[in-house]
Amino acid sequence: MQHITRREFTRKSTLLGAGLAASNLIACHGNRSVRNDELSASIPIPIQIVIDDVGWWSGEDGNERQQPYRTGINRNHVPADYQAIVDLGIKLGVRPQAATILCEWDRENILRDVPTITWMREQWDNSKWVGPWLDEAADIIRNNQNHYELTLHGVGHEYWHDENMTRAEWADSSGQMRPLDQVELHLDCFEKLLDQNQLGSFPTSFVPTAFLHGFGLTGDHQISMAEVLKKRGVDYINTPFNNMLNAEGAQFGLFGIDSEVITVDRGEDLLDWDVLAENQVEC
Ligand SMILES: [Zn+2]
Repeated sequence: MQHITRREFTRKSTLLGAGLAASNLIACHGNRSVRNDELSASIPIPIQIVIDDVGWWSGEDGNERQQPYRTGINRNHVPADYQAIVDLGIKLGVRPQAATILCEWDRENILRDVPTITWMREQWDNSKWVGPWLDEAADIIRNNQNHYELTLHGVGHEYWHDENMTRAEWADSSGQMRPLDQVELHLDCFEKLLDQNQLGSFPTSFVPTAFLHGFGLTGDHQISMAEVLKKRGVDYINTPFNNMLNAEGAQFGLFGIDSEVITVDRGEDLLDWDVLAENQVEC
């Protein structure tokens, strides 16, 4: 599949929208022909703001010691990080999607029961990250639902075989879905952590961790990841199609419908995920 940058995606989507609008307007005029230069159409640019890897309290990129990649920021995260997302949403009049990882919100160490879900496996101990910041951040999320959308990203972000971190939580490096029983357990944990922290009902949107995902059936599975998620109420997925398994199955190129779940190509990021304070860029 041809790779597109996010800028190209935006440009092409705008042209597509303008083309569709023009043909509709012409059709509405029946047999009177209307020249394109008589038409004036304003098409909103389809931009969705998605912020990945929200939810960590540690900022450390731990991949070199079998821990998750995390945000790579040189400090711990704080409730003000959540307020910043809300402020962005208020200023732009939108609901940014916060693609969320919840393992460091585990107040009761329930993740000990699922060894594939964290780097500590049965010895999981999250006491370090249990403190007033949980309630403070949860309050910000709960009180700003019009400008903050909590999106499912993952619980531990990766998948642990024995002591070894492997990419990633929902699919392997080829995009093939993890064993179904493990996927369901991880989703159960995400829901329990939402409940522990009163963060609301299960999200309706999903961003696969490490963008490892398959469109439709993968491997020997009889059910797609999208259908697994659909059963929990998810109806929207966004991920770059350039490394999505079975991307050719997306019926409309830039997006496809997978078990009634719309799956959108988010294009390629202009910067690596851990680049900070970079001056950007051409327009
Ligand atoms: Zn991520």
